[in-house]
Amino acid sequence: MSEIENVVIIGSGPAGYTAALYTSRADLRPLMYEGFLWGGLLQTTTDVENYPGFPEGIMGPEMMQRFRDQAERFGARLKTEDVTRLELSPDGGVHRVWVGDEEHQTRTVILSMGAEHKKLGVPGEEELANRGISYCATCDAAFFREKRIMVVGGGDSAMEEAIFLSKFGTTVQVVHRRDEFRASQIMVDRAREIENVEFLTPYVVERFEPGDEGSLSRAVLKHVDTGEEKVVEVDGAFIAIGHQPQSELVAGQVETDEDGYVITEGKSTRTSVPGVFAAGDLVDHTYRQAVTAAGTGCQAALDAEWYLRDTPMEAIAEEHWAKVRSA
Ligand code: NAP
Repeated sequence: MSEIENVVIIGSGPAGYTAALYTSRADLRPLMYEGFLWGGLLQTTTDVENYPGFPEGIMGPEMMQRFRDQAERFGARLKTEDVTRLELSPDGGVHRVWVGDEEHQTRTVILSMGAEHKKLGVPGEEELANRGISYCATCDAAFFREKRIMVVGGGDSAMEEAIFLSKFGTTVQVVHRRDEFRASQIMVDRAREIENVEFLTPYVVERFEPGDEGSLSRAVLKHVDTGEEKVVEVDGAFIAIGHQPQSELVAGQVETDEDGYVITEGKSTRTSVPGVFAAGDLVDHTYRQAVTAAGTGCQAALDAEWYLRDTPMEAIAEEHWAKVRSA
């Protein structure tokens, strides 16, 4: 049986790498499973202009490489593999982590698996991502100054993005599949009051099409009731139909809300299981920024460090070996 780890970090991105940086600098020798698709959502973005400290901006993948290098420099052990199974000890103690047949045991776990933008799943969406199609208005609005913009969705995010984007684009068309909106009335009213915001309902996007230069040029919509097709010339389309937290690994083991986001206690990163902490977009359905995720990664590392300090290893080891002996 391998030694019991201090910290296993699952999932990478600003939260995970920051947790790895802090726990390695605290001499905890973290073991991090960053996943095959390491780096999280920032790997799929281009310029990041809103991360403090980079006045010229930085490309998302380069930024993640730097986060990674910094964690590695202080001794974080990074594994580019996906964790396949977790068995959390409900009362704390020793948690078990599997990557295929390989098992690790650990006193603390930091969950930072992130969230995925929900996709429409229509033709052209994947091909034109970062070439006109975006999932983040605060990241990409500046690329669409004086351009024709579309926002897809009918929730608060869609309204918020439409309001924000109206300051950049010549027009912002909100495409939603129903005449009613899931968004709060105040947000819908605010969007409606803006002169260059227009609503197209009930429409769904059939497909996105490129122009001669290979970037987004048209969206083909379909009227939900009549089936009539409508072609809209557009330079930028922001898909705002919600997020999907990547919490399947811990489903049923830590407390989550009805949308699958991991619930943490107060302002801490403590989950419902002692010794298990969560950070980043796996927890946060409000701010979802690289800088806020990095901040909670730091908090998770400190919470884990304090937990290890305050939970004597002797008691854990005794309980652990008792379990092993009786197994
Ligand atoms: P959301 O409330 O789940 O809304 C998602 C929207 O996308 C819905 O209108 C839904 O349509 C639509 N949609 C989902 N899948 C679709 C598909 N495949 N094709 C077309 N449309 C699709 O998500 P959200 O707007 O991201 O908000 C998430 C949470 O954050 C909410 O609790 C929200 O209140 C909160 N939030 C608050 C603020 C704020 O207060 N300022 C800002 C942003 C977010 P249907 O309605 O037809 O299902």
